[in-house]
Amino acid sequence: MATFNTCTIEDTCARCGFFGDIDYDLYLGDTRPMASVSLNDPYPGMEQETGKFRSPSRDVYAECPHCKKDWFAIAEVHNGRLVRIDVDRHTAPYIPEQTVTAHVTCRECGPNLGSVVLFGNIPMRRCNCGKCDHFWEEPLARPR
Ligand SMILES: [Zn+2]
Ligand SMILES: [Zn+2]
Repeated sequence: MATFNTCTIEDTCARCGFFGDIDYDLYLGDTRPMASVSLNDPYPGMEQETGKFRSPSRDVYAECPHCKKDWFAIAEVHNGRLVRIDVDRHTAPYIPEQTVTAHVTCRECGPNLGSVVLFGNIPMRRCNCGKCDHFWEEPLARPR
């Protein structure tokens, strides 16, 4: 079974806007202690690290206690301390908001109808080509 550390912070759900205690699961550094880390605490196994740790390794994950939907996040570590956690708006979560049939441009076989999973406030979509069954994720094109 995968081990992870946790950090609980008062935060806004990336999916529904609920504000309250959010538990982030952190698959970073040394996860064997299954530690409960607070912001500004030293982070296990990352004593020398400074940087932002994010997808595609999908290292930081949360589920909302209110809407039960999920999102990925980016952890920022400074001199070995966990200093902040931000929503990753460039990685599709697991739990869909809705699934629609739409025109997609399949990377394998070109324009087709496909099944498209949307994630509400996270501007990504997960596409499944209706012709060749290829799956991929892409940013949601937004009108500006
Ligand atoms: Zn929520
Ligand atoms: Zn295809």
